[in-house]
Amino acid sequence: MQLRYNYRLYPAPRQQIALAKAFGCARVVFNDALAAREAAYHAGRPYLTDAQLSAQLTVVKATPERAWLTEVSAVVLQQALADLNTAYRNFFASLHGTRKGPKMGKPHFRSRKDHRQAIRFTANAQFKVLPNGKLRLPKIGDVPVRWSRPLPSTPSSVTVIKDSAGRCFASFVVETEPSPLPEAEPVIGIDLGLNDFAVLSDGRKITAPQFLRRAEKRLKRRQRELSRKRKGTRNRDKARVKVARAHARVADARRDFHHQLSTALIRDNQAVAVEDLAVQALGRTRLAKSIHDAGWAGFVAMLEYKARLYGREFHRIGRFTPTSQTCSLCGVKDGPKPLHIRTWQCRACGAWLDRDINAAVNVAKAAGLAVTACRAQVRPGLVLAQRGEAGTHPKSHRDAA
Ligand SMILES: [Zn+2]
Repeated sequence: MQLRYNYRLYPAPRQQIALAKAFGCARVVFNDALAAREAAYHAGRPYLTDAQLSAQLTVVKATPERAWLTEVSAVVLQQALADLNTAYRNFFASLHGTRKGPKMGKPHFRSRKDHRQAIRFTANAQFKVLPNGKLRLPKIGDVPVRWSRPLPSTPSSVTVIKDSAGRCFASFVVETEPSPLPEAEPVIGIDLGLNDFAVLSDGRKITAPQFLRRAEKRLKRRQRELSRKRKGTRNRDKARVKVARAHARVADARRDFHHQLSTALIRDNQAVAVEDLAVQALGRTRLAKSIHDAGWAGFVAMLEYKARLYGREFHRIGRFTPTSQTCSLCGVKDGPKPLHIRTWQCRACGAWLDRDINAAVNVAKAAGLAVTACRAQVRPGLVLAQRGEAGTHPKSHRDAA
């Protein structure tokens, strides 16, 4: 299976300039090709094939107006075209209903102001990890890398990314052999919620760690400050950089939290079931913000690849299974309940049910996992008990203490 390994890059000023040029050239090639296809479409001419676009690029590079394209690696430009072709294929497959997942829109033009700039080098480009630990990128130079963990084998490609906070990363694609863990006994269902980040079918409720919630608060404050600054002023620029940095810190902290939690869940359980996220559907409601903040999709993707990597079962439950309407003890469905109802008593069997735990148990059951449902039962007096920090980060233990 293919996995991505990301590392921070520290390009020298001269390399930063070369990278900026490469990002710019890749963007121009992408946008030119997109414009050519759109023009053909609007003129009623046939769709320009990948080969035609590639041939056009060769011609354009020989013209004086676009001669500067030869200053960057040819592979980077080809890969920009490959990105466009992939975007079109996904769009067409989505139109014809042959593609799973969310609907893909038409490819859109890239901008210098996009939050994320990226270029890709394939093996053809002869990028190389040097014995001194630097990453040799053609026409960029030997860029220092912080190797936060070892790269398990020779990568087949590397994407160089610059994020909105101005940081550079190398993202390697590496072919990895699964390494199954010894079999574990427990199986678990997970309900991804709004109050808690996740609720498990064994009754545990996992809240995002304190440091992440603090970073999120700081980000919101910075965003408010930014919105008060007048456009086009130097103060606004300063505030914008602060927001980007705060944003990057939140994203990093959240990713760490997701990694630790997903690794623990996969290590401790033989099978894991989650609800297929209705993020697309929910995303249109007023809950949208908190949902995107929670970053569930990234977390579920981690669970999925780690399950494959470590030989665990991973189940995704259809989003139309009424997990919050069915009693997990007796299976009787007693209709939808408004979101503010956190606990209720089953009219059939009399059990007191916690909305989230009950849903997590139902997720596990829908996946065919035999979980014990006993802790889905709550006693009425315990309903409003204090939620503690879930021990997913060493710091959260300290905070809870
Ligand atoms: Zn019941």
